[in-house]
Amino acid sequence: GSVDSTDIGVKSSGSSTPLEDNINVVVRVRPLSEKEVKASDDSIVQFPGNGQILCEGQNDSQKPKLFTYNVVFEPGATQEDIVQYCGIKRLIEMAIEGFSSTVFCYGQTGSGKTHTLTGPPQLFVGKKPDLNHKDHGLIFRSFFYLFQLLQQRQENTQFILKASFLEIYNEKVIDLLNPGAARKKPLAVRWSKKMRGFYVENLFLVDCEELDDLLAVLEEGMRNRAVGSHLMNDHSSRSHTILTVHITSEQQAENEKSVFISKQGKINFVDLAGSEMTKKTQSEGKTLEEANNINKSLMVLGYCIASLADSKKRSGHIPYRDSQLTKLLADSLAGNGVTLMIACISPAKSNQCETINTLRYAARAKKIKTKPLIIIDPREALILSLKREVNALKLENEHL
Ligand code: ADP
Ligand code: MG
Repeated sequence: GSVDSTDIGVKSSGSSTPLEDNINVVVRVRPLSEKEVKASDDSIVQFPGNGQILCEGQNDSQKPKLFTYNVVFEPGATQEDIVQYCGIKRLIEMAIEGFSSTVFCYGQTGSGKTHTLTGPPQLFVGKKPDLNHKDHGLIFRSFFYLFQLLQQRQENTQFILKASFLEIYNEKVIDLLNPGAARKKPLAVRWSKKMRGFYVENLFLVDCEELDDLLAVLEEGMRNRAVGSHLMNDHSSRSHTILTVHITSEQQAENEKSVFISKQGKINFVDLAGSEMTKKTQSEGKTLEEANNINKSLMVLGYCIASLADSKKRSGHIPYRDSQLTKLLADSLAGNGVTLMIACISPAKSNQCETINTLRYAARAKKIKTKPLIIIDPREALILSLKREVNALKLENEHL
């Protein structure tokens, strides 16, 4: 639904449009850090309301730039505000209904992507997490909402949940739930004829009967990611992580007790590599292949988003299969599901250039229009499943 700052009484600058499109874009501005405050590295953004953000021009002769998104979260917004008003609840509801949902955090290193998705890594390392900690991120809070919904629905429907957690580093896929083995031999991304989608071969899929099982997956993956980070200086800013919850529902048909309607939905939580990586690798004088590999997924995601956002290119070739990340997100981006982009930015003057880049990228993503797919009645549901079939076939053809 639509969000209004006066309605919700939180530090967020309202909503320009209801969060009902297939791609929604919100911006989160982190608070100035202690270091920035000490250095008088002042804020260059303002919040006029209505999902708008105003960013100072880069020099005196440049006018301030105004951008509009679905929602803008000001620095005072809490982790709870994000889960309430960013639109994630609808993604979870749709995942239960059998859609592929994806939420991804985009932004430069240090802009708050990991904070938004998972909260500080210390929450998970070496101790049983305090469930009430205010810093728990979107993933943790989404799991609670998911189980709340499943408990309300269990009458004639059975749910089977499985979760996976992987990292893409240098175009290599590493299982965060089984990192030892996978680091020696990265996992392969393959096309499945049966599922009509890409999947990761031999990826651990953990059965999650209870909320605690999902939380354990999050904890385990976070711990393994932290270990990996020590192996290389800026590992975490160069890697992407994807935590996926697969939701299979089996529903007994109303009049035909022996007939079960099975649906397979999922939700991907994606913490992207720092958006500054593209330029950084170029300036570090890496070989083309190294540089390409490090940022390939991020670059290709950019191409896919740009193509989807351009009405002339939308029906043409979208280069999903050019990177590991976009292969794995193709079904969500292709319009079979819903996508939420959370663009994370720093308010500080010293980050102005990257901030404007992120705001531009996010504005482009907001232009993507795929028709909202909402199940209304059984006939509609049939049409919908045929549409998805067609999209899947398109994807398959491109792959062949
Ligand atoms: P990224 O994952 O984008 O590189 P992080 O999430 O690690 O960035 O955030 C960088 C630093 O800023 C961390 O110390 C984090 O705790 C802090 N931080 C980020 N966003 C917020 C926020 N909304 N409120 C408080 N601290 C934040
Ligand atoms: Mg991070």
